[in-house]
Amino acid sequence: MSKPILVANWKNHPSSLAEVTFLLKGLSANKLVYKKLSLFVAPPLTYLDLVKEKALGYAKLASQDISLTHKTTTGAVTVDILKSFGVKLAIIGHSERRALGETSEQVREKVKLALRSGITPLVCIGELSHDQDGEHFEFLRKEIKLSLAGLNKSNASKLSLAYEPVWAIGKRTQDAIEPIDLSQTVIFIKKVLTDMFGRKVAESIPILYGGSVETNNAKILIRETGIRGFLVGHASLNAKSFKEIAQALISK
Ligand code: PEP
Repeated sequence: MSKPILVANWKNHPSSLAEVTFLLKGLSANKLVYKKLSLFVAPPLTYLDLVKEKALGYAKLASQDISLTHKTTTGAVTVDILKSFGVKLAIIGHSERRALGETSEQVREKVKLALRSGITPLVCIGELSHDQDGEHFEFLRKEIKLSLAGLNKSNASKLSLAYEPVWAIGKRTQDAIEPIDLSQTVIFIKKVLTDMFGRKVAESIPILYGGSVETNNAKILIRETGIRGFLVGHASLNAKSFKEIAQALISK
């Protein structure tokens, strides 16, 4: 059985080099815990080098997005640059980027580009709102199909998926998803993936959950929901909370 996966999405935090150094010191104090996982840290690009240096040995580098361009473009960071820095995984299609206008078609192109570059795409999907009638399932089906259309089985088996219901992002434990809803959604996502790529490939794609994972709900969310790990936003900026989330994953 492969190790649980934990991805820290720092977004555009911390806001100073001193704070990053402090956070990395806190993370390094728990490196023995992190070595039991597949830990990825996705910092703002300006901190990549520092994270690489300080978290060496217990965390791999991730990016929060990739640029589709290979041409000379002011402001772009190409996938080749990310690769040369040692980035191993790229978050693609995060809802905050989709909210800025990124389409599933662009997500699909980014997924292909990441795969061509040997970077694991962590493709984010998630409905905007959750309704008791289950209409969000149809939204999810469409988003998965559009974001992964045209991939062959071999490529599909190299990606990871993060189910991040948009309504649950950036909130508190009490607003996060219920375990029963999460397990039903994971079953649904696996069915969509099975329809697209066959059962064997669908089972090989790790599904992570993201959206208000904190120390209070990490244990219950990992148990019996079929997920293989977490994508963590705000709680990844606190070394103590993040360690406790890691411990919940290990003790599953
Ligand atoms: C995210 O934005 O990827 C995320 C999971 O955020 P949070 O943990 O803060 O809800």
